[in-house]
Amino acid sequence: MFFEELERLRQDNLLRQIRDRGPACASAKILINGVEHINFSSNDYLGLANHPSITEAAKKALDKYGFGSGASRLLSGGTELHRELEKNIAEFKGTETALVFNSGYTANISAIPTLAGEGDVIFSDELNHASIIDGCRLSRAKKAIYRHRDVEHLSELIKKEKGKRKIVITDTVFSMDGDVAPLKEISDICRQHNAILYIDDAHGTGVLGNGKGALAHFGVKPDSQIIQMGTFSKALGSYGAFIAADKNVTDWLTNTARGFIYSTAIPACIAAAAIEALEVLQKEQMLVKKLWQNRERLFKGIKALGFDTINSETPIIPIVVGGIEATMKFSELLINHNIYAPAIRPPTARVPRIRVTVTAAHTEDDIDKLLKVLAVA
Ligand code: PMP
Repeated sequence: MFFEELERLRQDNLLRQIRDRGPACASAKILINGVEHINFSSNDYLGLANHPSITEAAKKALDKYGFGSGASRLLSGGTELHRELEKNIAEFKGTETALVFNSGYTANISAIPTLAGEGDVIFSDELNHASIIDGCRLSRAKKAIYRHRDVEHLSELIKKEKGKRKIVITDTVFSMDGDVAPLKEISDICRQHNAILYIDDAHGTGVLGNGKGALAHFGVKPDSQIIQMGTFSKALGSYGAFIAADKNVTDWLTNTARGFIYSTAIPACIAAAAIEALEVLQKEQMLVKKLWQNRERLFKGIKALGFDTINSETPIIPIVVGGIEATMKFSELLINHNIYAPAIRPPTARVPRIRVTVTAAHTEDDIDKLLKVLAVA
């Protein structure tokens, strides 16, 4: 079964393989097959995945609540920690309420189909994350796809399309190109056309706006027409996701979002870790500063070597080195120098690239080692 399909993927150099990592190492290192590599593949932007007070918070909750949550939130799977996390994230994002989801993928595929249905129109950036695309596919709403970050195109479509409800959906930081949606202009268009704005701030939370996320970065005030989705799994070094919005919205999602209703709640220890991560992020602002210092050092170095980095503006830096085969070889070459940065191929991204992510946990030496290898590669 699937032999021919798999063979085709193999021949096209598109076969994906899971590479296991070893136990956690210090700073931005990763063990692969027992060998230490500098890790330029992680979304753990602030280096919190292994932070002592966060792992300690998880351990304490593990002892108190046990591991499995046993049921969905609507049955008996939720705890006071889930509620505390929601209260804290709402406060952090400047909204009335928040609702925790099991993952960012689940949040998008569960929320989008219930926020827009038959008779509604979704306006979606062509490079939105796969989970948004899948959420749109599950929705009965009409879809209008606008060119990447093209506010003129969005404006044109939103004027033309008729719908009961209009909802504009965009990643804030695009996960493969590392560029940022023009949220100020997009939010103005939404206001002019009484459209809802749904942002996926998975890579903006903890990174943009001094860590508060993309709205803060652009000085856009949260309001009843804006729905902010984000994850605990990236800069917050934890797991799971949230939707922060007006109470009506989260009440509606609690009653209709299938991935919320019909799925077991995240274990309490994960909620505890996310609560602590949010605390650390707010207390240790130096981490966000360090992240951006590292980003500037690496980005400048890569540009000085003449590489095409598409339109990267963030710690996600794509490096275009050629076609699929060249990109695979390049990634292997990096691994041979104990640097881990994955090759990204279609369909994840149209243009093959090495996707480098830099974090606050990298040292200047780590960054300079990557630059040195890039210089000879
Ligand atoms: N949205 C974006 C923009 C993402 O990059 C990701 C993760 N790759 C997700 C959603 C999914 O989040 P999670 O990993 O928590 O499922």
